[in-house]
This record gives sequence, structure tokens and C-alpha cells, in this order.
Amino acid sequence: MKIYISGLYSGTNPQPGIGIARSLRQAYPQAELIGVEYSNRCSGIHWQDFDEITLHRPWDELNLDAHAREIKRVLDSGALWVSSIDLEIMWFASLFPEGHPNLLTPPLSALNQVGKPAIPAHEYLPVKIPTFVTTELSDWDLHAFCREHDWKVWLKGPYYEAVKVHGWGGFQDMRGILSSAWATDKLFLQSHVSGYEESISLSAYQGELLDCIRMRKRDLTELSKTWAGDVSEVEEEMLVPLREMIRQINWTGGAELEMVRDADNQLWLLEVNPRFPAWIHGSTITGRNIPAALIEGATGVRAQKSIATGEEFTRVVLEIPVRGEYPLSPLPEPFGGAIGHSLKHPSGLLQFANRLHKLDFDNGQVSNGNGNKSKNQPTIIPETFVDDLAAMDFSEMQTPASLFLKTTAADYFARAATLSKELSTDEIEVINAYSFKTNPDDRLVKLAHDSGFFAEAISLLEVKKALAAGFKPEQIILNGPAKWWRRETLSDASFYTIFCDSIEELNRVIAEVESGELKTEFLGIRIRTPNIRSRFGIAIDTPETFETLLEAVKRIPKQCKFGVHFHMASANVGVGNWWHLFESILRWCGSIEALSGRLIEILDVGGGWFPEDLGKNSGEKFRKAIELIPEFLPNVKRIFSEPGKALAQPSMAVAMQILEIRGQNDGWQEVVVDGSIAELPMYFFYPHRILCQDGKNGGWKSLDRGKTQLLGRLCMEHDIVASNVELPETAEVGDILVFCDAGAYDRSMSYVFGRG
Ligand SMILES: *Cc1c(COP(=O)(O)O)cnc(C)c1O
Repeated sequence: MKIYISGLYSGTNPQPGIGIARSLRQAYPQAELIGVEYSNRCSGIHWQDFDEITLHRPWDELNLDAHAREIKRVLDSGALWVSSIDLEIMWFASLFPEGHPNLLTPPLSALNQVGKPAIPAHEYLPVKIPTFVTTELSDWDLHAFCREHDWKVWLKGPYYEAVKVHGWGGFQDMRGILSSAWATDKLFLQSHVSGYEESISLSAYQGELLDCIRMRKRDLTELSKTWAGDVSEVEEEMLVPLREMIRQINWTGGAELEMVRDADNQLWLLEVNPRFPAWIHGSTITGRNIPAALIEGATGVRAQKSIATGEEFTRVVLEIPVRGEYPLSPLPEPFGGAIGHSLKHPSGLLQFANRLHKLDFDNGQVSNGNGNKSKNQPTIIPETFVDDLAAMDFSEMQTPASLFLKTTAADYFARAATLSKELSTDEIEVINAYSFKTNPDDRLVKLAHDSGFFAEAISLLEVKKALAAGFKPEQIILNGPAKWWRRETLSDASFYTIFCDSIEELNRVIAEVESGELKTEFLGIRIRTPNIRSRFGIAIDTPETFETLLEAVKRIPKQCKFGVHFHMASANVGVGNWWHLFESILRWCGSIEALSGRLIEILDVGGGWFPEDLGKNSGEKFRKAIELIPEFLPNVKRIFSEPGKALAQPSMAVAMQILEIRGQNDGWQEVVVDGSIAELPMYFFYPHRILCQDGKNGGWKSLDRGKTQLLGRLCMEHDIVASNVELPETAEVGDILVFCDAGAYDRSMSYVFGRG
């Protein structure tokens, strides 16, 4: 019996070849095991269970046709082949679409049934698939996906590789790295599922399930790979459908179903790998030799029984002698310290993936990834943007210029006003308070005033401005940690409410109210959100801090009514998290009310909303939230929302001009513009929709994704205002580009730089 085993990489993210060899050696002591590798840097070639090693050129240099002929000859000669390289398995499926009796990997149609991320075969099993989207969506929609899933999302490559997304900037960086490594724009984003990780490993031959076990990961490496696990039977309710699935999709070879079991005991299927897992020998030492079952099923030759030595396994690192005929590679040239993919895939697998794209091999054949034929989807532009731009004259404009989108701004304020009316009930009035600091532009302030908003200020200078703009003192909400800065600005202070940011401030304000120096209808507190890090508000998460707070609240003078404010940006923590937090705050407030004896009559939920999220589904979530309030806080009469960027962000744009168009290099192009991150300081935090004018009809359309970088005018390395766009072919020097969504902190925090 001669068995070829390919995929011997044995670093911290190992391939299964060694584990397969160890298991087969136990079951078939006399078999000839031949290790196959494509790099002498895969340390597994030195493993003693291999009788022989076949070392090929790396994938990027290999003559694929000759290699294919050689493999056919090997299989026809009666030898078996077990592959543990995902890409090799896909390539085999294209060489042998119907399989080969001695090739112990799945045929093409079976492989298509387990393609990521949809995994069609999951229909047979009692599992769910975590929500995912293709990265061909516009940046605008990808950002929305991340917010909706609380930024707990994974960016996944077309075949393998998954990285956790850390913020928008982190996402853009990783997308760039994965896209260029895999030569495709077609990656996907998938929501994270919290729970315990477990796997099913199985072997099957021509649609017959031969053996399977369940393994729970008990310890993980930094890359979330198994380091220790326990092995048990697959339970009946999974086993029966699994057997049916294997029959229906006609599987051959090993497989691993990677899953997460959530707190409700629901299984989520993350991936089906078309091969044994790297920890497979961990199953063998518990008495279940899954690779041996495959060989036995394919050949009918009885395997020696494995002896169970426990139900749990762990891994260690071993030093082994290097084979004399394959000495270590010479030391490399001193190397710049870069961390490249080449270290992780020494056999040139990435290049192999790219060769497969070029061969058009995955042209609809294998659904995994589907190569570089991506179809990026356009950004949808609101009509009011286009209307507002149509009314502007760009010919005389000094760029970079801030553009006020008049109808857009009016539209957003009107919608917010309508929403608060619709959400108000007989018991609770919903009121908007415009956050001045987000953008104190007079036009926005006027819109807020005319729309019946209150004014939310974080400094007395902002209060002064609000009063000058026509807000009444009883419409002013004072907030923030430094609200008494420039105290002299306001001699006769009177407010609707003051929310104190600390116990110290609360004590001071109580004293001033008692002495008559300050007047305010409400005196409240901002509470620090439990479990989410924040520098603002009064902590409540230990019995001691909570006790201190209660003592202070009890001292609030009776002439003031009491309220509570909390604020956590949903755009940052995610929309789901925000609602979770809201409920938890209601519970805390219920305790404050009960234990302090002070009634909570107003609740202020802060700002931090992304424009699209605030009124999503006509504010259906808000409606439910407002219905919930009386359950916990029966005395609340008014609830305040403090939108800042939700209204200001779409209200302004930045126009800039193209200064220079440089030649293309390998498809990549650099274009210099006269705008910069000084006018777009939020560039790194969320996507901006970019518009250009059609050369022919002058209409505005959004830039597609592509290989052009827009370099800002500043002499600073990081002044790149867009890194993944495509300009129209007609673009020329002097053309105007409009960066939308720049009306909030882009505007208020923009700075003067490089202007002499
Ligand atoms: C900044 C701020 C807001 C507005 O936040 P946005 O992110 O602009 O929506 C609301 N309330 C308070 C107290 C603030 O400090």
C-alpha cells in the first residue's frame, strides 16, 4: 500500500500532513507513506513517519501540466493520494471533476456544495450560517454592515484566512493586504458569533460516511487554532443529517466542519474544510482513527485498531532531526524586517491562487472565492445631494471649498423633527437637542432653532451663541466635563438642565444652586456606561461608587427636578450594543431612583448616531425603547436625543480640484488634488461618498472602487484622501471632485495648514 500525503507545513498554523501520517502509520505499519511538499522550508518533510519525500518546485514555478500528468500516473498505478492543501484539492477537482478511485479528495460538485461563505450543503444540517456580505458592496454599505454588527466582524479571504476587523481604518488596511495577496476584490465580511468553538471531523468515500467525531477546542493559539481539545461522539441529531448530506453531495475524503455553539445552544457553521484538520491525530489518540477509516473504506484493507489513551489531547512543540538529504536552506539576505505572506506559505500558495485565477480555473467551477471577477457595486447618492450641487457654480470657486448642501440639511432636520413628533406618546415627549460642538455653523443652528430643537452645549461660549441665535434659557442643556470654562461669559445663568460629569461637579453645582448663583430647572447626572470604556460621567459599577453617587443625589435641592444622561456613540460601539446598553442603563436608573428616593423625570440618551441609523425603519427601535421606559422609570416625562453628526454630517461637502494626473504603474495610479486631510480630518474613521462630474452631460456620479489614490496637497505621508477609487476616463486636471458627508467633525475640526 502506497499513500501520498501532501501538505506538510508544520508551523503554528499547521497543515494536517504530519497528523495524517502519524495516524496512518499506527493503522498500517507496513504501508509506504510518501510526503509531498512544494518547499524545503516546510519542516514536516523531516518527520520520521514518511518513508520518502517528494519535493516539487514551489507552486509559482511548477509546471502544472507536467505535475498533473505525474499525479494521474501515480493514481493509475494504484497509489492513494490524501491532500491536505485546500488549493491543491480545488485544483485536483478541476483535473478530476468526477474524482478518481484512488484520489481521496472530493469531486468538483461536492466541493461546490461547501464553498464559502454560503456553504449550500448546510441546508441538510441543524446549523445556521453567520450573516455575511461580499466586499464588492460600496464602502458606505460595508461600513453600515460593521455598525449593524457592532464591529464584531471578520474579513475573510476567498479560500482561507480570516482577520478580525478593527475599525474602519483597520478594515481598509486589511482589505488592501488581502486583496493584493489574493489578487481579488472579492473578499467577504462576516459577523462574529460568540460561543464555544467545536468541530466535526469525518471521512467519507464516494458518498458514504465512514467515521466522524466531535472535537471541542479547549485551548487556542493566537490565531484561534486548536491547541488542546476533547473528543466525543457526534450526537444523533447531527449524525443522521450529516450522513444524508455526505450521501447527497457524494463526498470523498476527509473534512472538517468548523462551528461555534452559542449561548442558546445553536450551532453556527463557519467553514467546511475539504480535508482533515491539522489536529486529526488528537482524535486517533482517543481511539478514533479517522484517516485510517478513509483508507479502509477506499481499499477494504483492515486497519489496525487504535487504542484509546484518553478523551482529551493537547499539543507540544517537538525538535526533530533534519533529514540529511534536505539540509536547511542557507540564511537569507539580511532582510528589511517586513512580515510577509511568504513566511506563512513558504510553498508559494498565494501565487498558486493567482495562477489558478489566470488559468480561469475558478470561472464558476469552484464557488470558493470565484477569483478576480469581482463586480463592485456603486454607491447610491441621495437625490438632494445632486439637487444641491446642481445649484452651485464651480467655475469661480476657490478650492478646496466647503459646500453647504441646503436642501439636504433642511431635509435631515425636518426628518428628525417629524420623527420626534411621531415617537412622542401621551406620557413621554421626545425632544431633539442639537449638539452645537458637532458643527456650530449658523445655518445649522438656525435650522435646529426653527425645527423646535433644544440646544445642547458643552461650554458657556456655546450657551452664549445659542442665546444669541434665539434659543431661550429653558431650551438649553448643559453638558460635558468642562462646562464652567470661561465662567465670566455668563453672569446670570439659567438653564433647562445641567448634567454633571462628576461627583465633585455635582457637589459644587448643588452648592451654587442653594446659594442662588445658578438657576436650573433640572439638575442631573451623566452616568458612565458600565462595561464599555468611557472617560465621561460618574462611574456606577462598584458598590462604593454607587453609594457615593446615591448620597450626592439625595442632596440635590428640592427646587430642582432630577434627570439622567448617558452617551455612547453607536457609530463606534455598534447599533446592537447601543440598544443593549440602553436597557442596561434603564435598569441602573431604576435602582438610582429607588435607592435615592429622587424621581427621574427626564432621560437624555446623547448623540453619536450615524445619519443612516438614527431613523432606521422609521425609528421602530426607538418606538420600542420608549414603550419600555415606563416599566423601569414610570416618572419620565421627556426623553432627549442629542443628534450632532446624524444631522450635520450629510449637510456639507468639500470640493477639490485635480492638480496632477500621473502615469499608471501596474494598473495603479496617483492623482494629486488640492484638498487634504486638513479639510477631511475624519477621513480615516468612516467612508465619504465621492462625486465627480460626468465629462459629457455634467451630471454628478459617485466614483467607483479602483486602483487610483488621491494624494492630498499637504507634504505629509498620510495625506491620502482616497486610496481605492477609479476616476472616469475623461478626468483631467482642473476637474472638481466633491467629498460628501463632510459636514460634522470634518468641518468643525478642520484646520488651516500649508497656506503660508
Ligand atoms: C458631542 C456630543 C453630542 C453629539 O455627538 P455626535 O457624535 O456629533 O452625534 C451629543 N451630546 C453630547 C453631550 C456631546 O458631547
